[in-house]
Amino acid sequence: MTGRKFFVGGNWKMNGDKKSIEELANTLNNAKLNPDTEVVCGAPSIYLDYARSKLNPNIDVAAQTCYKVAKGAFTGEISPAMIKDCGVKWVILGHSERRHVFGESDELIGQKVAHALENGLGVIACFGEKLDEREAGITEKVVFAQTKFIADNVKDWSKVVLAYEPVWAIGTGKTASPQQAQEVHDKLRQWMKANVSEAVANSVRIIYGGSVTGGTCKELASQKDVDGFLVGGASLKPEFIDIINAKA
Ligand code: PGA
Repeated sequence: MTGRKFFVGGNWKMNGDKKSIEELANTLNNAKLNPDTEVVCGAPSIYLDYARSKLNPNIDVAAQTCYKVAKGAFTGEISPAMIKDCGVKWVILGHSERRHVFGESDELIGQKVAHALENGLGVIACFGEKLDEREAGITEKVVFAQTKFIADNVKDWSKVVLAYEPVWAIGTGKTASPQQAQEVHDKLRQWMKANVSEAVANSVRIIYGGSVTGGTCKELASQKDVDGFLVGGASLKPEFIDIINAKA
């Protein structure tokens, strides 16, 4: 027993509408979900309030990004205070699409992590190597470097979940093998031990993301250092229930 509560996040990305969110919420609300798994659904900003109102209280909601300051002239952005005002407790930060489609830097992600935590949100902090980086044998170097920008901005680790998401596995149908995921999670936990503390290394949840499905989740979940998942495509389908219950 690791003492780490299994954590399954859904990342809806820019998908859904009120009708489909209501349907998905009904499906999840009526399903038998493992009570030992923490479940969080990442909704588009405009539907945070709506998703919160439709999902049962045992299912948390996450924003998919937020800005690094409380308020002001930042057209289009949302703040942690606004997210909390909608009854939402989590935010996903540093997702590969924010990094690579919207050009967010490690520095900006670090600032967002600090601000979100200071304002009482839980943070699902994402990082992961690209295919060319894996092929060049620098996966660990990339993962540790990205994690350092996150770690340098964390005071209270109890509110942080680390999400390892190899970019080559996201939305591609190419799930990392259980061994590949376990290897990176294990190395990252060792890095945390050396660079943060042994207590945090033992308690922080490291979840895996990248083409997780109902079919691949069980073996991945059986790996010692895989403490849950961040799920994109499959989180929009009833299959998400199987992933939530992967440990059952
Ligand atoms: P995917 O997305 O499950 O569709 O690969 C995962 C993610 O981007 O978090």
